[in-house]
Amino acid sequence: MKVLKFGGTSVGSAASIRNVKNIISEVSGNKLLVLSAMSGVTNELVSLSEMLRNRKLEELPDRIEILRLKHYDLIDELIAEASYNLSIKKNIALQIDDLMAICKKEWSKEVDAKIITTGERLLTSIFSAYLNFESVENTLLDARDFMHISNLENPDTGLVGELFNESLKKAKESSIVITQGFVRLDAERKLSTLKRGGSDYTATILGAAIRATQIQIWTDINGLHNNDPRFVENTHPVSQLSFEEAAELAYFGAKILHPQTISPVIGKNIPVYLKNTFTPGATGTCISAIAEKKGLKAISAKDEITAIKIKSNRMLMAHGFLKKIFEVFDTYETSIDMITTSEIAISLTIDDTSNLDLILAELDHYGEISVDTNHSIICVVGEGLIEDRGSSRIFEILQDVPVRMISYGGSNNNISLLVDTRNKIEVLQKLNEKLFVHQLNSVNS
Ligand code: ASP
Ligand code: MG
Repeated sequence: MKVLKFGGTSVGSAASIRNVKNIISEVSGNKLLVLSAMSGVTNELVSLSEMLRNRKLEELPDRIEILRLKHYDLIDELIAEASYNLSIKKNIALQIDDLMAICKKEWSKEVDAKIITTGERLLTSIFSAYLNFESVENTLLDARDFMHISNLENPDTGLVGELFNESLKKAKESSIVITQGFVRLDAERKLSTLKRGGSDYTATILGAAIRATQIQIWTDINGLHNNDPRFVENTHPVSQLSFEEAAELAYFGAKILHPQTISPVIGKNIPVYLKNTFTPGATGTCISAIAEKKGLKAISAKDEITAIKIKSNRMLMAHGFLKKIFEVFDTYETSIDMITTSEIAISLTIDDTSNLDLILAELDHYGEISVDTNHSIICVVGEGLIEDRGSSRIFEILQDVPVRMISYGGSNNNISLLVDTRNKIEVLQKLNEKLFVHQLNSVNS
């Protein structure tokens, strides 16, 4: 079985959805389709949930009504035949009524999850009905029956696989199975999510769970680019990456992939293809076990990074100091991304600041603390980068921009720089010049 994920703008209009139907008809064998919500819908649901939380209830009914009409319009454009059209609208009406009812409750995490996952339920229902109308047999499965993910970082794909097969056995047989991305049940079997953008992660968790032959993630750009196209001109898609290279890039900000996407498939060796729904013929990016080419591949940037420095004379020649520092972060389940040390100080970065005050209060016992917010990690990735003499050009950036931390040699395929976010775009552009444009010029000359 192949897993195909479509999200956002790929399912954002009737024309895109027709296009998706054509794409899947070209893919051979059994397919599991993971769909997210229509573009814009989850953002809207998140703001409805916020309104409920803040008890700002006046606008809620009208805004929900607009969502109903948006989905009705989609149905009208896709399904011309009256009886099909009516029956799917009835189904959508029930789901919208449910949403209306949930939005009258007290806000809780579970209520929030119910609200914000509604987009996936609506769209999968419409897509399945549309395929039926087009005489394409398909089976719609409810992700809540098998996406039982107690541990978000380390999902039990064995359990998910068993539950998925049970659901499949109960359903009618067909070569196309459809389910919702983003959704999960947590350790208490309560509805929750895989975090924003999590449908990619649904696809790889399911791919690992059912031992899919491949996973295709369909988006609206031609694969993973060598630099951030929002800030840098003339970027190009990278045709092949190893799992490790892609995992670093996704974690450190490549917007095309949810950060955890790659982790479930690494051990299972299932290739992941990133493709563009609007130019299906373009090569895109293939992510697989081994890097086909050595050397520099891409640069990405992750914002909202906080750097913490702990300076202490007690660290001098003492053992066990770092352990104590790390234990503080462990207690507050806060992961550390970058670390640099000197004999009397340690600097490290975190992106989750929800427990920052508590962490700082404890660190205070160990030395003098300083905190820098609004920083960005710029991550340069490529298998064997460290051995590549050309990568020394990365350090020329030190002449132009202040760099707060550098991480070199942690792995063979990554060099990371921490800079003030105000300098991020300049660093991305300059690194592009030094590393990619320069590389091309020397190849061409
Ligand atoms: N619909 C969800 C979101 O917008 C999940 C996804 O798109 O992957 O975050
Ligand atoms: Mg996405």
